Amino acid sequence: MKPHPLPKTVAPLPDELLSGWLSRLAAANYCDDAELLAHIEIDTTHGTSLDFNIDAAAAAKIANAARIDPDVVRSLTFPAMTTREASLTAQIPFQHCLQCSREGLSLKHWRRAWAFDCQVCGTRLVPTLGKASGEQMPEKLINRARNGAARLEYAARLRSSKQLRRAMRAVTFAISLKAFRGDPLHALQGHRLEVRLFCLAAIDAAQSRPLVKAAISSSGIDDYARVALLRAFDKEPRLLAAVDYIARQRAKSIGAMAVESHN
Ligand SMILES: [Zn+2]
Repeated sequence: MKPHPLPKTVAPLPDELLSGWLSRLAAANYCDDAELLAHIEIDTTHGTSLDFNIDAAAAAKIANAARIDPDVVRSLTFPAMTTREASLTAQIPFQHCLQCSREGLSLKHWRRAWAFDCQVCGTRLVPTLGKASGEQMPEKLINRARNGAARLEYAARLRSSKQLRRAMRAVTFAISLKAFRGDPLHALQGHRLEVRLFCLAAIDAAQSRPLVKAAISSSGIDDYARVALLRAFDKEPRLLAAVDYIARQRAKSIGAMAVESHN
């Protein structure tokens, strides 16, 4: 026997994510997400687990309960992605728009590693956890990070391996300088706002003379950063050699300047 349709339904909005819409549907029917899913007889308590993968049976149950087309339900989930695209799309919400969240919205584009400003209202996205609202970040860093985010998006949309590799190399550097002991992808899709901004800003910085930037970063760094440097260039020994060369030349000229100033 099919469960009864819900007393109230809500229309999905453009770019809305299934889990967010289910929450709005639950609220309209005066229950929480888990109660709603139990009523529809879907075997999960978290709507977020359906965002990437929903089977036809579950889509049909939700469609029936909300009195909408199953295709509309499926359109609220992420389509099949390439491995690279998936790696730049967070499985769980890591940032949101305070303005739109207040209206109960949860949008797909917020999950992308490059998402920076809300495409609906233009408000800058902030981490879903942490003390983001009271955190003041320098305007210059924010602007740089916004540019870096745009570059990352461009590279991802273009599916340019070269540009994505360059971007991730910059992120690998950035996290080593920030002493973030984790994966570069987690730094981009994590709750530490200052790390994320720094990484995105590094993507922007790496666009102009990336090797020189890398060389400058490589002088005066600790062992961890040196390992990160090696890791960032491990598939490109020629680039690593070039970075090393520039770093040595820089050290030499700084040394010469120091000697001159002593005389
Ligand atoms: Zn918004």
